[in-house]
Amino acid sequence: MNRRTFLRAAGGSVGAFAAARTGTAGASQRSAPRPIRDVVVVGAGAFGGWTALYLQEMGATVALIDQYGAGNSRASSGGETRQIRAGYGDREIYTRWVVQAFDRWKARQAEWGRTLFFQTGELSLNQEWTPYLKSSKEALDKLGVENYVIKHDDLIRKYPQVNADGIDFGFVVPSTGVLKAREGCVAVAQAFQRKGGRLVVAKTEPGRRSGRTLLGVSLGTGETVSAQTFVFAAGPWLPKIFPDVMKKKLVSPKREEFFIGTPPGDERFTYPNFPNWSVGGAYGFPSIEGRGFKIAPTFDDVFVDPDAQERLVTPDEVAKVHEFVGRWFPALRGQPIVEAKVCQYENSVDEHFIVDRHPEFDNVWLVGGGSGHGYKHGIMLGDYVANRVLGQDKSPELAATFKLKDGTF
Ligand SMILES: Cc1cc2nc3c(=O)[nH]c(=O)nc-3n(C[C@H](O)[C@H](O)[C@H](O)COP(=O)(O)OP(=O)(O)OC[C@H]3O[C@@H](n4cnc5c(N)ncnc54)[C@H](O)[C@@H]3O)c2cc1C
Repeated sequence: MNRRTFLRAAGGSVGAFAAARTGTAGASQRSAPRPIRDVVVVGAGAFGGWTALYLQEMGATVALIDQYGAGNSRASSGGETRQIRAGYGDREIYTRWVVQAFDRWKARQAEWGRTLFFQTGELSLNQEWTPYLKSSKEALDKLGVENYVIKHDDLIRKYPQVNADGIDFGFVVPSTGVLKAREGCVAVAQAFQRKGGRLVVAKTEPGRRSGRTLLGVSLGTGETVSAQTFVFAAGPWLPKIFPDVMKKKLVSPKREEFFIGTPPGDERFTYPNFPNWSVGGAYGFPSIEGRGFKIAPTFDDVFVDPDAQERLVTPDEVAKVHEFVGRWFPALRGQPIVEAKVCQYENSVDEHFIVDRHPEFDNVWLVGGGSGHGYKHGIMLGDYVANRVLGQDKSPELAATFKLKDGTF
């Protein structure tokens, strides 16, 4: 291998990157390891995109490779919107990260001159104080995140849009909101490129190895991209790339999102007039930029292939959503579904994120397991991963939480 070449192609090189750096694989073979400078990140979703951007900002030379492009329609990050909630039961680390994420999202918006975060607030409608709610409140109080309870009588006065029959109280967290998901991934990838990062659209897979060192990844074109370190942030594709290692560690159930049209001239269900909500086993957001009132139900788990699944909702699901809307939001009863999206989660065995080295390689990182709540954390997780990859782990206590664990799937 030509050690002066970072990106090398069997029949050519990948653009201007080829001669850009002096990086090489095989760092672990030398007696004194060099600092990591060259990194390939596979996957430009919320996890890979932010990781690549932070790495680039920290001075590494980074190639970000995605088979369908940043925030594509198959990616778990490819939806219109994702919520940024703060309540996480007793999983305080995620509340901690969200508190920091609020400020980071606002700072990035200012830096990029575009709106990606809508502070809608969040209203969860409840019948009782569950252990989850109690521990969420404790963590929010401890971390200074404003929250309050709104009792039934005040609830029906303040939010007449909801049929609150049988609801005892609402739990409100005003600082939470909605993030533009697909657009956020595109914005991150653009920022990454502006800062000198190289974005490549190609399907890639691990290439040749030397002992415990991966030497490069091969692209569908026959080209090879080499680097010192590789981060596979491939979301629900991780088990396709590493079937042996990821078997029983990650599954991808289908998930649906519906956008209900609001009546003409009626802004009662539109941001900022209504918050994010959760009730009756579903959650959703107010209509943002005219996209419709979002409903994300949880139907039975059907495991899907993220490349091949037809992204269509079923007549049965449509009927259930209309019934749900009529039950909880009577003013929207009979309004049409103006858009529906079908996606998939990438659930780890305990729904914690996965950030760990591949057990067979010293220079390969596995990053994923967003488990239905990862999008909002990309902005923190990417920073965390970038630091670990560069050997500057600032939160060593988190390694056990994000370890690749055996499962029962
Ligand atoms: C319906 C739905 C609702 C959700 N709601 C929320 C929410 O409200 N709040 C929240 O925080 N999170 C939410 N999530 C979860 C969140 O969206 C995901 O956890 C997160 O987006 C995962 O990001 P990722 O980067 O790990 O994966 P992905 O976004 O899937 O990115 C992986 C990327 O890797 C690329 N890739 C894969 N294999 C290869 C290969 N061989 N070569 C090149 N590229 C490859 C893919 O093309 C893809 O772009 C939701 C998810 C879904 C599906």
